[in-house]
Amino acid sequence: MIAQLDAHLDLLGVDGNYGRIWSPSDTNALFATAYQGLRDTGRRPGEVVSLRTQCVERDGEDWALVYDNHKKGRLRRRLPITAATAWIIQAWQVRRAGIDLPQCAEGWLFPAARESSGTGHLTTIRLSQALRHADAGVPAPASGSASTYQVRSVAVPFGNCIEPSNIKAGGKACPIRFQCAGCGFCRPDPSYLRAIEDHVRTLKADRETAVALGADDFVVRNLSDQADAYRQVAATMCDKLAALTDEERSEVEEASATLRKLRAAAAVPVAFTGKAAW
Ligand code: SF4
Repeated sequence: MIAQLDAHLDLLGVDGNYGRIWSPSDTNALFATAYQGLRDTGRRPGEVVSLRTQCVERDGEDWALVYDNHKKGRLRRRLPITAATAWIIQAWQVRRAGIDLPQCAEGWLFPAARESSGTGHLTTIRLSQALRHADAGVPAPASGSASTYQVRSVAVPFGNCIEPSNIKAGGKACPIRFQCAGCGFCRPDPSYLRAIEDHVRTLKADRETAVALGADDFVVRNLSDQADAYRQVAATMCDKLAALTDEERSEVEEASATLRKLRAAAAVPVAFTGKAAW
């Protein structure tokens, strides 16, 4: 989906001028920047559309995005971003400064088109509409939905990755060589619980083989550490499932069973390959 949207950045928002006031190129620049902000930062749509004009900060070589986490009421959170993402936002800041905006839009990076707008900034609904148009039939994110999460993550062994640079590269640029079990950007999926437990057993068997072969210590240690990390992932998942109500747990189990059936029908591999294979 990300590849599809990236290939059609020039189509974002061109189904109509923003509020029938802006030029087509300004409209496209607004939505292309908002989409890239969503893609590169992993923030929720509501957090992206409500970014402030001065939302990029620089500290030496490091860049950060300042945003409000409305859901948890945590304002002015700082998120490290790449220089490339900072430049995309800065280019929009320059362009935005030359657009005639309503007073209510003052201070918002992605301004509302009209004075009558309640929020003063772009809405998640309008952003979602623009992405759907450019996506040409591929399901695009709706505000706060599960599909939004999919846009902000890529599949990795046993779950999803929310690391921004890896998402941007469609899952092909893990900065730490897909060591997902020990990575804070990994979001394990409970539908893989049994597969994770199988994987722990496989790692332990591989460890014994490595010992029998007289492999170097680092090989044995690595297999042990991976088994421990995956065992911890499975244990955390079991604890979280146990903390749910019976109804919630049964919903998760039902959804997990459906996902497993779909994966089996699609012949999706379940063996860990060390790479994001699905
Ligand atoms: S290790 Fe896995 S979760 Fe972490 S950044 Fe790499 S692909 Fe993403």
